[in-house]
Amino acid sequence: MTDLDDALKELPRSVDPFALTLHRHNLELKRARTTILQVNVALLCNLTCKHCHLEAGPQRSEEVMNLGTMEKVAAFAERGSFEVVDVTGGAPELNSNIVAFIELLAAGQKTVMFRSNLTILTDEKRRELLESCCRHRVAIVGSLPSLNVNQLEAQRGSGVLEKILTALKRLNSIGYGQPGTGLQLDLVCNPTGAFLPSSQHGTERKFRFDLQKKWGIVFSNLYTFANVPLGRFRQWLSASGNIDKYMEKLASSFNPCTLEGLMCQKLVSVSWDGYLYDCDFNLAAGIPLGGARNHVSAMEGPPMPGTPIAVSDHCYACTAGAGFT
Ligand code: SF4
Repeated sequence: MTDLDDALKELPRSVDPFALTLHRHNLELKRARTTILQVNVALLCNLTCKHCHLEAGPQRSEEVMNLGTMEKVAAFAERGSFEVVDVTGGAPELNSNIVAFIELLAAGQKTVMFRSNLTILTDEKRRELLESCCRHRVAIVGSLPSLNVNQLEAQRGSGVLEKILTALKRLNSIGYGQPGTGLQLDLVCNPTGAFLPSSQHGTERKFRFDLQKKWGIVFSNLYTFANVPLGRFRQWLSASGNIDKYMEKLASSFNPCTLEGLMCQKLVSVSWDGYLYDCDFNLAAGIPLGGARNHVSAMEGPPMPGTPIAVSDHCYACTAGAGFT
């Protein structure tokens, strides 16, 4: 069976493979200058969120980046003159070498972003991590899908809203999200079901108002993302009978104007074991950069501008509506 046969088998009849849609619009997905290195330091996570495309969770304790690989990644960040390193997981807090990694990146004068589900970032065990983040002006990007306690807890587990609010208050108290401190606190919001996000502008306004009014919490920026039909979210879509409807919704919202802003044009993603992908979603789907497994230690630098990007049907999630990456 060919790749196209596979794609057709998984898609509803009304949806064309993404590659065919690009072809119809006479479009190709190619790299611009790659300036961001995204590093997945662990598939280990304290949560098992229903929307997780990586299927991260407590059971993935072996899939954690070791210090040797971190050193190779930091050397690649230098060689490749990457401007920003985006540290993600799983829960990157659970990697026991995370502080050493941030110090390594900061020594190379990289701008660092740290993604967190916010539920364990500020507990006592992370004191050193938080100090390191503050010292090196690491931007914190916190995931907060909803302010509705029922929706949030259905997706992430009971008690999470309270933990998130506690973390946000603590981050505010040390300057994160406060104007003039240089400590950036961004939020990422994705829908809690099989639908597309509301407008970024409107959602940011609502979160800003509600968080400030109810809990006195402030933040820098909010970004909305569509859930990508991979991993645990795909399993949930299939089990709940929503997969065809969701793919149809994404495909019918395809907007060619989104291509210029896609993250894959300026970012490469590294897995916990040091291999490269065009983005975090291709990593989850097991589609490696350039069609072969390339380790950071073997790469001279980032892919050249004009290099083709591997696409698949999950790319509909990034190109729907106003675009989401
Ligand atoms: S999933 Fe999104 S970011 Fe990744 S290659 Fe497709 S369009 Fe680009």
